[in-house]
Amino acid sequence: MRLSYTALSDFKTCPLKFKLAQIDKIKTPRSKDAIFGTLLHDCLQLAFDPRRALPATEEEILNYFKNKWDREVYQGNEAEESMAFSSGVAILKDFFARNNPAEAKIVDLEKSFTIPVALGQQEHQITGKIDRIDKLPDDSFEIIDYKTTKKMPSQQLVDNNLQLTVYHLGLVQLWPKIEEENRPVKVSLYFLKHDEKLSTQKTRDDLKEARLRLKEELAAIEKYQAQNNWQPTPNALCDWCGFKHLCPMFRHQFSPVPLPDSDKIKDVIGQFFQLKEEAKKLKIKEVEFKQLIDRFLEANSLERVFGEEGFITRRKIPFYSFDPAKIKDVMEPLGRFLEVIKIDSAKLKKAASTLPAPARQAIAEAKKLERESKTFQLTKKKS
Ligand code: SF4
Repeated sequence: MRLSYTALSDFKTCPLKFKLAQIDKIKTPRSKDAIFGTLLHDCLQLAFDPRRALPATEEEILNYFKNKWDREVYQGNEAEESMAFSSGVAILKDFFARNNPAEAKIVDLEKSFTIPVALGQQEHQITGKIDRIDKLPDDSFEIIDYKTTKKMPSQQLVDNNLQLTVYHLGLVQLWPKIEEENRPVKVSLYFLKHDEKLSTQKTRDDLKEARLRLKEELAAIEKYQAQNNWQPTPNALCDWCGFKHLCPMFRHQFSPVPLPDSDKIKDVIGQFFQLKEEAKKLKIKEVEFKQLIDRFLEANSLERVFGEEGFITRRKIPFYSFDPAKIKDVMEPLGRFLEVIKIDSAKLKKAASTLPAPARQAIAEAKKLERESKTFQLTKKKS
């Protein structure tokens, strides 16, 4: 497999999206945000182009931006187009106010890399492109990736960002001496909309861990491929997904012709929402009644109350917990500890994310599908 890091992260977000893009090779139109981001990347590439005899001026870059601006992308939505254009100009002005291209020592721009990853007999490749590589005054390197997203992550997320470690791996793949000599490499995300740069530094152990993580993720893809079971996984990025019309999570919304029994189902959906609403109200009422009766029983030292329709008895049911270490001490020597423990999948998942790759791998291998239940989650349309 030859995959870009973006494809790998698509797989993690939604396996179906990965399958449609990487295996079925279905092309989707580029979003407005992606086109906007590419133009800003192009502007900054031009600004820092090391082949230039003279450094680029702000005016020159702004003119480039204006000339390349494509109004058609916004399909007649003038307000949106004008806002995006002004935002692009503001971003470039802010950027130039804080960065002087003449001062940067550029090693390369838009540098492609390939990281080989061996998995059993298979040789895979992870590819990527680094926006900018600088040489810093202390002889170390800085990798800069420009971002045009609105949200800025916490420093903790940047420190744990696998993409940045992959860029570092890409750099040492291009120039192995950097790793051999253990030279410091700063990896930065430059959030253009906020004019803020968040940086982190990776250790040799981080690189080792990232290599294992890549193997782990490629192994997961191989497993999905073998089972040919690509589940759609709704997520915060669905709104920008170009495969909505093909995705079982959204296809109904995009169906060009009404599906059989559509009207009946529409009616059922309406009634289902109503039913849930009534059930919610009844639940609230039930809690109120229980509280009233409980107070009455407490006040009159009773455990049972009588009405016309019958009586209600209060029962106190104790719930106990056991010290797991002590139970283990008793049960393990008898060889019966496994009988009484139940693994909490949610807690295990959380703990696994902090474990080293071999442990995560062993946990992943221990996982088996026990049963599949179907739930119906109701999401009310925003009014
Ligand atoms: S719309 Fe969401 S769930 Fe469907 S394929 Fe795209 S990312 Fe996955």
